[in-house]
Amino acid sequence: MARFLCPACGAEVPFRTADGVTTTCGSCGNLLIRKDLTLESLGKVATLADDLTPLQIGAVGKYRGSGFTVVGRSRVDWAEGTWNEWFVAFDSGETGWLAESQGNWAMLKEVPSSSAPKLDPKALRPGTSIAIGKYTFEVEDAREAWVAGIQGELPKVVRPGKKYFSVDLTVPAGEGGVATASIGFPDTGPEVYVGEWVDFPEFHFAGLRVLDGW
Ligand SMILES: [Zn+2]
Repeated sequence: MARFLCPACGAEVPFRTADGVTTTCGSCGNLLIRKDLTLESLGKVATLADDLTPLQIGAVGKYRGSGFTVVGRSRVDWAEGTWNEWFVAFDSGETGWLAESQGNWAMLKEVPSSSAPKLDPKALRPGTSIAIGKYTFEVEDAREAWVAGIQGELPKVVRPGKKYFSVDLTVPAGEGGVATASIGFPDTGPEVYVGEWVDFPEFHFAGLRVLDGW
């Protein structure tokens, strides 16, 4: 873990992953970007309103036998709803994304751009097939989305409010079961993520939020 001092308030700011590029200061809420050995402040970010998620930064879980810690969160909105993308640091040094949408959870890993398929977002209509890795996925949904708020450590610089094209993909029933994928098209180029749906209890989380009424 690398430790820095917040240039805005002087508080100690940890980076838990080698991939972490930005984080929000836990003390003053400034968005900080890593520049070699120092941090630069990009000013305050809107704090995320409490929602009904049981997850929070600092929670620890297990996935396929590997321990991980939740280190960051990006809340994404679209015209008809919202979802959370939680950035997780595995004990092995790998990172991943835990997608949370309406009580469904998926663990995804980014596909290196060198092995990602060439994609034209305009061609990605529902029903279109795309081969990624060992599966042939089908486009389920394609929509404009934007990051509504961020918290903690993230591996990329995110501009809240900036619209981008977002595509969800599934594997047809019986051909891969729980595999899922998503593709985002920010200005910096396509980002392809592949993973699988997981039942929440299988993560064996510790350090969850205590929600009233649960
Ligand atoms: Zn600060």
